[in-house]
This record gives sequence, C-alpha cells and structure tokens, in this order.
Amino acid sequence: MIRISHHRIKCIGCNYCVEVAPNTWQMEEYDGKALLKNTTNKKGFYTKITGDDEYQANKEAADICPVKIITVEKVK
Ligand code: SF4
Repeated sequence: MIRISHHRIKCIGCNYCVEVAPNTWQMEEYDGKALLKNTTNKKGFYTKITGDDEYQANKEAADICPVKIITVEKVK
C-alpha cells in the first residue's frame, strides 16, 4: 500500500499531476487547483491510502510538482 498526501492550499494549478496520474488527480474549476480524488480536507492536507499499482504515476507527480506539495510513501 502507499500513502499519497497533498498540501492543497499551496497548489499553483499547473496541471502536471493530472497529466501524469489522471486516475488519481483532477483539476477543480471553482478554484483552479488540483484535487486528490476521493479525499477530504483535513487541516489543509488531503490524504489517501491506496494500492501499489498507483505508486509509479504518483511518484512521478510528486517529482514533477513545481511546488513540491505531493508526497508518496510506502506503508504496510
Ligand atoms: S503538480 Fe503540484 S502545483 Fe501542479 S497542479 Fe499538481 S499539485 Fe498543484
């Protein structure tokens, strides 16, 4: 399993995460920021636990994010 986390308030809306991991990310029209799908806001962070099959695309999203607000880590 992996844990993906997004510090959404700092998102600049560049769309890169959606381009590399469209199954996990979407852009929100109301504020122009990315949303980690199927998550809710907890003190500014959006977090989900998901399967290893999403690791590669989301690691790429974390690497490409220009403001470095995506983290991806392996969990048990
Ligand atoms: S790559 Fe980073 S800054 Fe760009 S839309 Fe995604 S979370 Fe926001």
